Amino acid sequence: MKISVSVTFLGTGGSVPNKFRNLPSVLVRRGPELLLFDCGEGTQRQFLQARAGINRKMRIFISHLHGDHVFGLPGMLHSLSFMGRSRELEIIGPRGIIELVTSVNRVVKLYNRFPIRIREVKSGQSIKDEAYNIRVAAAKHGIPCLAYAFEEKPRPGRFDAAKARRLKIPEGPLWKELQSGKLVKVGKRRVTPRLILGPPRRGVKITYAVDTRPCPSVIRLATGSDLLIHDSCFAESAATKAREYGHSTAAEAAGVAKRSRSRTLALFHISAMYEDASPLLAQARTVFHHSILPRDMDTVSVVP
Ligand SMILES: [Zn+2]
Ligand SMILES: [Zn+2]
Repeated sequence: MKISVSVTFLGTGGSVPNKFRNLPSVLVRRGPELLLFDCGEGTQRQFLQARAGINRKMRIFISHLHGDHVFGLPGMLHSLSFMGRSRELEIIGPRGIIELVTSVNRVVKLYNRFPIRIREVKSGQSIKDEAYNIRVAAAKHGIPCLAYAFEEKPRPGRFDAAKARRLKIPEGPLWKELQSGKLVKVGKRRVTPRLILGPPRRGVKITYAVDTRPCPSVIRLATGSDLLIHDSCFAESAATKAREYGHSTAAEAAGVAKRSRSRTLALFHISAMYEDASPLLAQARTVFHHSILPRDMDTVSVVP
């Protein structure tokens, strides 16, 4: 079965919003599953606009506890509850995320209509799912900040239909089972998927690293990403500011993309001082050609 992966940039600004950019949030869709990275204020509205579905399997990953990355969380939980979510939702973030969510919940008492599981994670840990892992690494910012890499496990190889026919395996459910890597019985014969499938194919890798200086741990985490979403708060003319506030310039983000041998770089967490951020894109492209500057609500599909 072919499962597609796409990324919708719900908010591409940073620190404060401007007319063009909402606060940071990125929605990764893998088949019917949702993974949301950060939840700046106003994310719930962007999320609705993206028609992501309110009762899907869903995890929210928080990079750090600066307001522009978490103030959207109470509103998001509140609205999901109102709109009828019943399924458990998992929130993953650095130390302090449990206290943040439980204290808001204690005072405001709004969202008890679906179970919320909160996990505090640190650099070096992995969140494991059947088809993918999310690795966690330390970013370099003023306060503890985490970068995440979504890595699909290798996908099963291509199904050789001609060979399946030659081996007289009847088309239908048995083909499906072989395609998903299961051994099947045809009469008294046992057919292993290895006979029908090509070599396993690489899965998709997406790295999310915001509010960070360029740093070795992020480069290591991002190695070989199909898409690297990296802090690109400033243009080169504000390089000192970037250093001072624990952010990166677009060109520095491009340096990380290059050193991590990523395929595409998305410039993200653009400072509100840039109404037109095209100079940032031009600067990034002098270092790393495959740079893009997504606008809010842009969607890109990611293929391995
Ligand atoms: Zn920020
Ligand atoms: Zn920050």
